[in-house]
Amino acid sequence: MQDVIKAHRKIVHLSFPPESSGRPVVCNLTRLFDLTFNILQASISPRQEGSLTLELTGSEENYTKGIAYLSEQGIKVQVVAQKIFRDEEACIDCGMCTALCASKALHLDRATRRIQFDSEKCTACGMCTRVCPVNAMNVQLDEDW
Ligand code: SF4
Ligand code: SF4
Repeated sequence: MQDVIKAHRKIVHLSFPPESSGRPVVCNLTRLFDLTFNILQASISPRQEGSLTLELTGSEENYTKGIAYLSEQGIKVQVVAQKIFRDEEACIDCGMCTALCASKALHLDRATRRIQFDSEKCTACGMCTRVCPVNAMNVQLDEDW
């Protein structure tokens, strides 16, 4: 029976130094490592620092190689799911965040009436942090690893 290679899917945040902004490094993820990407957020200007949030899909091996390639190009890579935190005790399940969460990372569990958070779906858009009345959602993408 033929082996089935499971698709590896991750949402990553890239920070580009000014000298990287003109190079086709993201397209090279497809060309060199057979990874598909979906741009979720972009802030790139010529000769300035920039940032991109990407959804990357491919084999786990190629994902690892692609991330190593980006790092070699001087690009800081942060896995979004590891930089999003919800303070479970602070959350009062008001549901305000769910209306703004386009990726459905925050959703109402109808059985328990509690708000559930799936960090793997989160795109780090930050919308929930703007409406949460008790600051239960925290997005930390700026500090060094
Ligand atoms: S930052 Fe908040 S609103 Fe944005 S995708 Fe993540 S959980 Fe949803
Ligand atoms: S807005 Fe804040 S308090 Fe309300 S459900 Fe979302 S995380 Fe919880």
